Amino acid sequence: MDPQALRTLPKVELHRHLECSIRPSTLRELLKLAGFDVPADPKAFSNLYLVTEPMDDLESVLRKFLATQKVLSTEKILERIAYEAVEDAFNEGIRILELRYAPTFVQQGHENLSFDQIHQAFCRGLDRARKQFPVAVGLIAIIQRILPVSEGKRVTDFVIANRDTFIGIDLADNEVGFDSKPFAPLFEKARAAGVHVTIHSGEADVPGSSNFVRDAIEILGAERIGHGVQIYQSPEMIDFVKSKRVPLELCPTSNWLTHAVKSLSQHPIRQLMEAGVDVTLNSDDPGVFGIDLTNEYQVLQSHLNFTEREFKKLNDTAARVSFIPLKDRQAVWPGL
Ligand SMILES: [Zn+2]
Repeated sequence: MDPQALRTLPKVELHRHLECSIRPSTLRELLKLAGFDVPADPKAFSNLYLVTEPMDDLESVLRKFLATQKVLSTEKILERIAYEAVEDAFNEGIRILELRYAPTFVQQGHENLSFDQIHQAFCRGLDRARKQFPVAVGLIAIIQRILPVSEGKRVTDFVIANRDTFIGIDLADNEVGFDSKPFAPLFEKARAAGVHVTIHSGEADVPGSSNFVRDAIEILGAERIGHGVQIYQSPEMIDFVKSKRVPLELCPTSNWLTHAVKSLSQHPIRQLMEAGVDVTLNSDDPGVFGIDLTNEYQVLQSHLNFTEREFKKLNDTAARVSFIPLKDRQAVWPGL
């Protein structure tokens, strides 16, 4: 498929962090306003604020994420970011879009903003965009695994109180050294309130990584797994995930940048697909990675020779397993 055909191909995105989806031109503008040094040269800008090469030291990567976090400082900015995220998604063919954000991450350094102010600002941006672009959009809240369970409880209670504007809840951040199990009661409560659950798990290439996925499904009740890419190393885990019919939200470029896979051509997406696992294709942090979802299609086409038929399968799976209410998805995705 030529680049234009890939771009206009109707797509579904289930795994995109809203705070890390800032349009490049907007990020420049906001960083400048926040007093950061913003070089005009794209390469110099990218070196300072984007992650476009596999990370070699975590510290410089964290600095980049912190710069992005710093600009999330007013309700007006949050509203704008949400609106532009939908506009950009629509313009690259996305018709079903799930966005996720961590209220605790946005609030950090901006304690003057309440969870409610943050959420309402994002919702205003999404509502404005929904009126203009035929995209089914849903929001997922993220609990940060690296924070105390009490912070997770704050997020869970907030999601349940706002379940008309949240479709799901997620647990993200590093799994190594940060046990997921203490968060289990929160996810049980969310599920009982009718909130869908997806869990970031099995992302990093560390010993026993695929077992984290088992815990995410069995103990936290994950209906979908964010990444889960490492199960390819364990035939037993592939069978387990298949038997539970839990889809994976795969993000190839993200996996390459974080060393979760050795190279893009060694990404196990086809292996997992052919083994019968439900897989979907996603961009994760498009703003920070300097990519969009179309880029991920180009990656699969050029590195793994993916065909139009395989792209259709990825999207049909994603449209089917989205947490957005069925009638909203059917309005934008014929044949669902
Ligand atoms: Zn993610």
